[in-house]
Amino acid sequence: MPSLIPRPPFSLIFSSRHRGHLFASFLTLKRIHITTTATTTTAATSPKIIVIMGATGAGKSRLSIDLATRFFKNSEIINSDKMQVYHGLDITTNKITIKEQQCIPHHLLGVFDPSQIVINPYIYRKLASKTISNIVSRNGLPLIVGGSNSFIYSLLTKQFNPKMDVFNGPDPDPVSSELRYKCCFIWVDVCFKVLNRYLCKRVDEMLDSGMVEELKEFFGSGEYLRVKRDGLGRAIGVREMEAYFSGGGVDLEVYDRGVRRVKVNSCELAKRQVGKILRLKEGGWDLKRVDATEVVRRKMTAEGGGSVAELWEEVVETSVKIVNQFLEE
Ligand code: ATP
Repeated sequence: MPSLIPRPPFSLIFSSRHRGHLFASFLTLKRIHITTTATTTTAATSPKIIVIMGATGAGKSRLSIDLATRFFKNSEIINSDKMQVYHGLDITTNKITIKEQQCIPHHLLGVFDPSQIVINPYIYRKLASKTISNIVSRNGLPLIVGGSNSFIYSLLTKQFNPKMDVFNGPDPDPVSSELRYKCCFIWVDVCFKVLNRYLCKRVDEMLDSGMVEELKEFFGSGEYLRVKRDGLGRAIGVREMEAYFSGGGVDLEVYDRGVRRVKVNSCELAKRQVGKILRLKEGGWDLKRVDATEVVRRKMTAEGGGSVAELWEEVVETSVKIVNQFLEE
């Protein structure tokens, strides 16, 4: 199998947005030499990595940026969301923007051409492990951040068998708790009742802030026909809104039906993600649960404001304690 790490010929299929990522990463690499508790690697020790897990909308990206900008300044983030690895549909797939990245290097985010490749767990394992080695070789701290638990599992388990499925089906294969890195798992959790309300609100906000235009362009330009069905074509928002945009984008009833499907499917995704996280926990993975329910609840009420920031600080502080303890071990 050919090497899957992007290199010059591959770069021909990178988007200009990705070149932006690379440039931001390059600038930031100069900065990250102010290392704190650096992860050390020798042949005898496996690298230490931080893994931030959780359902869509729980606050993983924000937490990773707060940890990386304020506490662990040698951090570099590796995306583990299976839709966000591709370029395109940035709003629909809820990618962190360049501004929100705050110059923290991000890897495997928006870099693959969705018409050329489908990144499956096996490929992800190769790409992400190589990225971890590179980060560690420059004394960086890898932060794996994203909601695709099949990617996280494939990357971390010592023996990965692509034929085994530990999450799906009536009789899933057993979860292996033998991992090839020293991992600190932070699970950002928000109770479903609150998260579901938030996800529905977030869909409305995404639609208002450019998702409609993004999808209109996606369907109108024929990009929809080019992307791989098993890759970006599966992003929530594509199938749900297909009828509306293919029908000329005029029928409001069809639009409303599509939006309702996007909301229902986002909530179902969150439920499946937490199901997978619980399966890993039951399988012996030492996941530290950090509850962000109150942050999200307050964010949706008029009280919001200062109290949201204070509650979020508690989430950050708890996480910092967990990471510090892990790095000192
Ligand atoms: P599965 O076994 O269902 O593929 P997984 O753990 O491999 O699950 P998930 O990240 O849970 O991967 O994604 C499952 C599906 O959820 C995707 O195929 C897609 O339809 C949707 N999805 C996941 N992440 C996003 C996203 N960022 N934007 C839009 N849709 C997403």
